[in-house]
Amino acid sequence: MRKKIVAGNWKMNLDYSEGLALFSEVTNMVKDEATGNQQVVVCSPFIHLHSLAQLTKGYTHVAVGAQNAHQAESGAYTGEVSAKQVKSTGAEYVILGHSERRQYFGESNELLAKKTDTALANGLKPIFCIGETLQEREANQHFDIIKSQLMEGVFHLDADKFGQIVLAYEPVWAIGTGVTATSDQAQEIHAFIRAELAAKYGQQVADDITILYGGSCNPKNAAELFACADIDGGLIGGASLKSRDFTDIVKAFN
Ligand code: PGA
Repeated sequence: MRKKIVAGNWKMNLDYSEGLALFSEVTNMVKDEATGNQQVVVCSPFIHLHSLAQLTKGYTHVAVGAQNAHQAESGAYTGEVSAKQVKSTGAEYVILGHSERRQYFGESNELLAKKTDTALANGLKPIFCIGETLQEREANQHFDIIKSQLMEGVFHLDADKFGQIVLAYEPVWAIGTGVTATSDQAQEIHAFIRAELAAKYGQQVADDITILYGGSCNPKNAAELFACADIDGGLIGGASLKSRDFTDIVKAFN
């Protein structure tokens, strides 16, 4: 059975002590909610990672992740953080290809393919984000965009490596806008993604991959989204900054 994941993406929010306080609240509140094959992941700014990873000890269903990591192993890249450095904090996951990284930092599919390789080589599990803009959806290009993001970003991986990643479908028009994809719209894309994975890697690999939905997911819409056959949880931005909302989204698994 594939893993069900609710991952928070704090983005560039919360100072050091605010982050620790929120995480303590969240771990306390979700500790009895996530069970079995369910996992809660909090993707914080780099500054929190080590402390949060320490706090996950004793919680088997809670893990920590970064929101980015550099494609090079190490070197003269002032201001950057490597996958190896992220891993050394105790973090297990790293978000790659978030639309804000693609949009504001010019990250291309080609670059993200390299980041994925480096993250995997250093034992991190990438949460690889894909999704179309509003303009692309209105031009009816969303399936083509998703397909090229998969082909250019992650389809160079062999089946074994591919099995270690998590995908997140995040329509750009739904991120931070309060406009959520309907469960039908989300399920349609998730089923499309899984069919593409089956064609490339076979049905078993496709069935085992966790595919998250992201974009204005909140306690009100999470249960309906998570009930869809091909939606295995969510990547949560705004609502991950409130312990009650985030916990209610975790509860929506059940
Ligand atoms: P949102 O962000 O939940 O605030 O829409 C989701 C994301 O960017 O991962």
